[in-house]
Amino acid sequence: MHDIWNPWHGCKKCSEGCQNCYMFYLDAQRGQDGGKIYRTKAGFRYPLSKTRSGEYKVRSGEMIRVCMTSDFFLEEADPWRDEAWDIIRQRPDVKFFLLTKRPQRVRDHLPKSWGDGWENVMFNVTCENQKRADERIPILLDLPFKHKGIMCAPFIGPVSIRKYLPAGQIEQVLCDGENYGGARPCRYEWVRQLHDECAACNVTFVFCGTGRRFVKEGKMYHLEGSVQSEQARKSGLSFSGKPIQFRLTNSWGYPVPEEQLYKPYFGEHCRTCGMQLICNGCSHCGKCGEKSPGADQAVLGIQGMQGQFGQIQALTSAFPADDNGEA
Ligand code: SF4
Repeated sequence: MHDIWNPWHGCKKCSEGCQNCYMFYLDAQRGQDGGKIYRTKAGFRYPLSKTRSGEYKVRSGEMIRVCMTSDFFLEEADPWRDEAWDIIRQRPDVKFFLLTKRPQRVRDHLPKSWGDGWENVMFNVTCENQKRADERIPILLDLPFKHKGIMCAPFIGPVSIRKYLPAGQIEQVLCDGENYGGARPCRYEWVRQLHDECAACNVTFVFCGTGRRFVKEGKMYHLEGSVQSEQARKSGLSFSGKPIQFRLTNSWGYPVPEEQLYKPYFGEHCRTCGMQLICNGCSHCGKCGEKSPGADQAVLGIQGMQGQFGQIQALTSAFPADDNGEA
């Protein structure tokens, strides 16, 4: 499974959610400065990389999360973004998950051929608290994207999106607590409220993880690692709403037949994970000790795979920079 594409690395903090940014934390752990922004080398063209037999490593129908150690709309990345857009354009059979805290920069930095949006791009804004939700969601609703979502992570304050959902543009809402040093608590009632608002509009809601500090019924829980995601799943709050229809095509513009689209495999270990609804599936990394029946996929040229725990970290809490765009 090929979850992450980091065409550039490094960032500048721009809002409350950035305070304990995992990228800065992990870079510091390695003696590096997360404020040093650079274009990755071999990893820059990762979605176009092929196996020895000439097939794309990232398979039709997979979802790639873009710029998980930066922000796709970062000003410093302006010189590189057109090339990245062109790579996205060349893979109309793959879903690209974009997430930004800078939606005000998006309209001026879309590709020339954008029109009313590309089918293979899902655009998300971070809403870590109500202030940022009210600032970013109106911009999100005004932008030309075929698929739009919201990510409340790190979820550090109550957020109501009730007034934004009836427009029907927001297809998915994700939330997750905070991690690492200084993690601020996430509260069950905030998650519950988001769930209820999404349920009322049949919008998919995924409670990805509790974060390190989670408060329920007045009691603070300290959770580390995969337990955060397991507890989120156990809450039973995640659900699939109205299906999101990505009209993926081949490079000639013809729809990719259903049978040619990648089908995720979920192993025994995945059944406890809160991310399953938005995950590309088990990577067969073996870290959980499970010998999966899908292990044969490994010899089909799937390389650079991540463990289930790695995926949780990648999206929500931690992900070390890796020049080849894989981790
Ligand atoms: S990577 Fe994200 S959280 Fe970190 S500083 Fe950039 S925008 Fe903020």
